[in-house]
Amino acid sequence: MRAAELVGAKLFELRERERPSPGESEVLVEVSDVGICGSDVHWYEHGRMGDRVVDEPLVLGHESAGTVVETGAAVDGLAVGDAVTVEPGVPCRECEHCRHGAYNLCPDVAFMATPGTNGAFREYVAWPAEYVYALPDSVPTREGALCEPLSVGVHAVRRAEIGVGDSVLVMGAGPIGLLAADAARAAGAGDVAVVDVVESKLDRAVDRGADLAVDSRETDVTAAVREAFGGGVDAAIEATGAPPAIEATLDVPRAGGTAVLVGLAPEAEVPVDTFELVRRQLDVRGSYRFANTYPTAISMLDCGVVDAAGIIDFEAPLGRIGDAFERAAEPDVVKGVISVD
Ligand SMILES: [Zn+2]
Ligand SMILES: [Zn+2]
Repeated sequence: MRAAELVGAKLFELRERERPSPGESEVLVEVSDVGICGSDVHWYEHGRMGDRVVDEPLVLGHESAGTVVETGAAVDGLAVGDAVTVEPGVPCRECEHCRHGAYNLCPDVAFMATPGTNGAFREYVAWPAEYVYALPDSVPTREGALCEPLSVGVHAVRRAEIGVGDSVLVMGAGPIGLLAADAARAAGAGDVAVVDVVESKLDRAVDRGADLAVDSRETDVTAAVREAFGGGVDAAIEATGAPPAIEATLDVPRAGGTAVLVGLAPEAEVPVDTFELVRRQLDVRGSYRFANTYPTAISMLDCGVVDAAGIIDFEAPLGRIGDAFERAAEPDVVKGVISVD
């Protein structure tokens, strides 16, 4: 099978690798669609993530879908020919976090496209059936692949405990921001504001139903929110990792409101006005990856409350993955998808 391996910063090589065979509880998936994630682009551009370095060839890609072509002896519930989406993290299933269901916090998770675990920019992936989900006919694999970023949005919305009629602000109109905004609306949010620095992305947020779009290069976000929402929003979700956006996320909730941080800042430390956090009694929460979200994401796509196709800007074949990554890194691109077959 062909696999696109990242061998160093800005360098993919398409290599012929042995087709994996599924273990007892695994299925073999013939991969058809894989989204290009911001984290993939980061690995591609720098050959590293913080102190983790690509010292062996690494297959990127963790937003994948395809078709089951083989099943292990102990697999039931999935059959050859099923269209499926693949949850990229396989936790240990034994630690305290796993046993409580918060398996996104498992310290021993094998997560696709991180050193030690190859991702999905290849023709076949063998994966535990427990983390592979059948897609209904209404959800093409191209959209099913985006259950991963949608899951990040769903998890953030759950962390924010968004209720019916709540006002919500989402920082960032990238894939996570747009899908989190959709998930917030699906959870019953009232007015949803979206903030970004790229006009075309804000336009897209409005097309998708944002009630307020704020360009933070031109407008003071806190002032705009106070004007539109009185004392502030019920919940704010940060999906950029940009330090000024993180600061604004802690500024915009009403007293007693919630701020959920999803984006990773380039440096861990961002100045915080602790006096304000206390005085306004904010709930500030981290949101890391996701757990127990795939069935939810699939049903959201199935009933059409989320337009995953609408965030896709372009598709490219596996053989042109280098060009596709260059394009995905452009500021106005929300999502690129690699077609593997
Ligand atoms: Zn992703
Ligand atoms: Zn665990």
